[in-house]
Parts: sequence; C-alpha cells; structure tokens
Amino acid sequence: MVDVNGILISDEAYSLMPMLNCKCGKCKNEINPVFLYLVDSQIRHVREVLGRKTFSPFFTCGARCEKHNKDVGGAENSAHLVGMAGDQVFRSIFEFDWIVSWIYETRVQRKIFYLGRKFIHWDFAYNTPVPHPHEWIKVYPEYFNIIP
Ligand SMILES: [Zn+2]
Repeated sequence: MVDVNGILISDEAYSLMPMLNCKCGKCKNEINPVFLYLVDSQIRHVREVLGRKTFSPFFTCGARCEKHNKDVGGAENSAHLVGMAGDQVFRSIFEFDWIVSWIYETRVQRKIFYLGRKFIHWDFAYNTPVPHPHEWIKVYPEYFNIIP
C-alpha cells in the first residue's frame, strides 16, 4: 500500500499514476488520490465479485491542466481539471460490461459513453452539476435503458 495525501492506495493502482497524470509534459497536475482509490475499488469489484482475475484498467486520459484541457477540446468545467475524471478504454464488450457493473455498484456520478469510441468517461466531479447517479449523460442514453 502507498499513502497518497493520507489515502491508502494499492501498489497496483499507484503504478497507474503516470497514465493518469496530465500528459502535457509541462505541468505537475496529478490525478486525485480519491480517483485512484476508486480505481482500486473497480479492480477489486471486477476481480473478486465478477471473478475476472486478469482484468487491469487502462486509461487514455486522467488529470488535465487548463492548457492541455483546451488542447484536447475538453469541457470548460471538466472534472479532468481537478484530477477526478478518467477516460477508460474497454478492449472488448465484456470489459465494457465489467466496468459498467462497477459504475452501478459505486454510483459513479457521471459517465459518458460515446458511440463508436472505445472508452467510457467516468468521474466524481465536485466542480460541475451532478445528474442522478443512474443517468448516463449526453450520447445515446437509450442504449443504456436496458441496463438495470
Ligand atoms: Zn498539463
């Protein structure tokens, strides 16, 4: 276990920090330890509850500084800016299901699935309005009506 600002994170989730810190190469914007704690919870859920032992999360994006957020076309009040959001890649429809299962388990505040793209944005934003925990926002919400 690693102590990050008083929050205990598994060595495995801690090792994902470089993947989740801002990628501009200039700033020092780091992923929030609370987000790493959530990643830990996801790993445990998928491996222990769902029994998918080989699962490991992969993110294309986590924390962003203002400049990097602009460069990648992020939203103005994006949760990426406070290091509380990640764009998580799913490498198969099964992996998509496991991640969604965890999202419902933990009541992740906001999640966005972009049809045709292989990642889910999920966050615990405290700088943006929070929808009902069971609502997927933005793109193709009807797709998710089949999920209890
Ligand atoms: Zn940056």
